[in-house]
Amino acid sequence: MTGLDAVRAWRREHAPEVLAGFADLLALDNVTGDVPALRRNAAEIVARLRARGVEAAAVGPDGVAPLVIGRIPGRPGAPRLGVYVHYDGQPVTPADWATPPFRPTLVGPDGAEVPFPAAGGAVEDGGRLHARAAADDKAPVVALLAALDAVAAAGAEREVELVLCLEGEEESGSTHLGELMAAHADRLAAEAWLICDGPVQQGNAPQVVLGVRGFTDLELTVYGPARELHSGHYGNWAPNPALELARLLASMKDGAGRVTIDGFTADTRPPSATEQAILDAMPPVEAGLLDRLRLAAAEVPGSRLLDRLMLPSLNVRGLRAADVGPAARKVIPARATASIDIRLAAGDDPARMLERVRQHVRDQGFLVLDREPTAEERRSGPVARINARVGYPAARAPVNLPVVGHLLDLASRAAGEPAITLPTLGGSVPLHHFGEVLGAPTVILPIANPDNNQHAADENLRLGNLWYGVDLFALLLTTPWRP
Ligand SMILES: [Zn+2]
Repeated sequence: MTGLDAVRAWRREHAPEVLAGFADLLALDNVTGDVPALRRNAAEIVARLRARGVEAAAVGPDGVAPLVIGRIPGRPGAPRLGVYVHYDGQPVTPADWATPPFRPTLVGPDGAEVPFPAAGGAVEDGGRLHARAAADDKAPVVALLAALDAVAAAGAEREVELVLCLEGEEESGSTHLGELMAAHADRLAAEAWLICDGPVQQGNAPQVVLGVRGFTDLELTVYGPARELHSGHYGNWAPNPALELARLLASMKDGAGRVTIDGFTADTRPPSATEQAILDAMPPVEAGLLDRLRLAAAEVPGSRLLDRLMLPSLNVRGLRAADVGPAARKVIPARATASIDIRLAAGDDPARMLERVRQHVRDQGFLVLDREPTAEERRSGPVARINARVGYPAARAPVNLPVVGHLLDLASRAAGEPAITLPTLGGSVPLHHFGEVLGAPTVILPIANPDNNQHAADENLRLGNLWYGVDLFALLLTTPWRP
């Protein structure tokens, strides 16, 4: 029997107790920001790690959800990899859930609730465990604990040392992650960090993703008359700020959907030949997406989604000027505001990007301020108020990073089908901390099913994906690797 066969035999036999342990962990409410609740979660995870002989501690100042740091030693001289998971979850609206978010519920492949299996009972891979954080992101914690048990039961040697960083405030912006990492950097040294979060590919194929986009955002307000005016008495005479804003926004993109802000992609690192080859080899999804989303064409007609994710994006995420619908009044609005987010690609700098937007607005003839304009300033010419939040940069590890091929091999073996690699996710996670604070590259290694209802009601983990995670961590621990 090979090592993987032994792990699989162990987890089949012990599935009921793994699920019971998972349910107990999910029954601990973990809404992000609820520090006392998150401390209970951290204490439970520390206890479970220590029960398996893993050095573990919850660290951090009072009033902050702690970072759980752990070390799973390997044989002497084993290379060291980091595993990042977060144990906090998104807020819940229980009324929207079919079953209470913190009463973990097992559901069969047909969607009907089933009892948790008794010892020796079997569970179908297509079944799902429903609870907040079942997928995002307690699943990797439970998979890793089960893998430790399975590896110990098989008597296999640990060929890799793992250092663990389990965060408790990912869902509220990782405010303290950088400083907590810096304070404990000596314990967090690793060849590379595996970010175990997010879903695998659509269709449930395993994937290893090399990066994320960065993020920054701003609010842009332009001004009309000092107060809303009667549109009959003043219409055609007083300038309308909604129209001014529309013109200003329209000046930021051309008719073909390309951003026209000067220098917008000047710092963007273009895909390497290998990255482009990976993108080109991915099966096209665009026709199906346009159909499902009822879209006539992509913003840049004919473009491929994955290619567009390699570039920074400029997105108007909201607009406001007076009111619409039943609340609409016959007025010329006094101001108009757009809320804009910018996803940053590798190479882009958040502060520089915001300055390019400000400069573009200046170039359109506006006085740009970061506060309300005075009466004199409004009288002097077009004024725009821009309030920006400097976000964080993208992270993108090179495809030829030694650990990538290793992880693709392990993920393929664990899943029984070839793992896919992608240069970046479209979304944003502050992975730059790992590079800036720890000097280590990051690779995203998800286990959850893509239809897990992450952040929404009825979040769930498909059990087959939990077992994939157990097999994957067991292989990670027991497969020899040289950086
Ligand atoms: Zn997550």
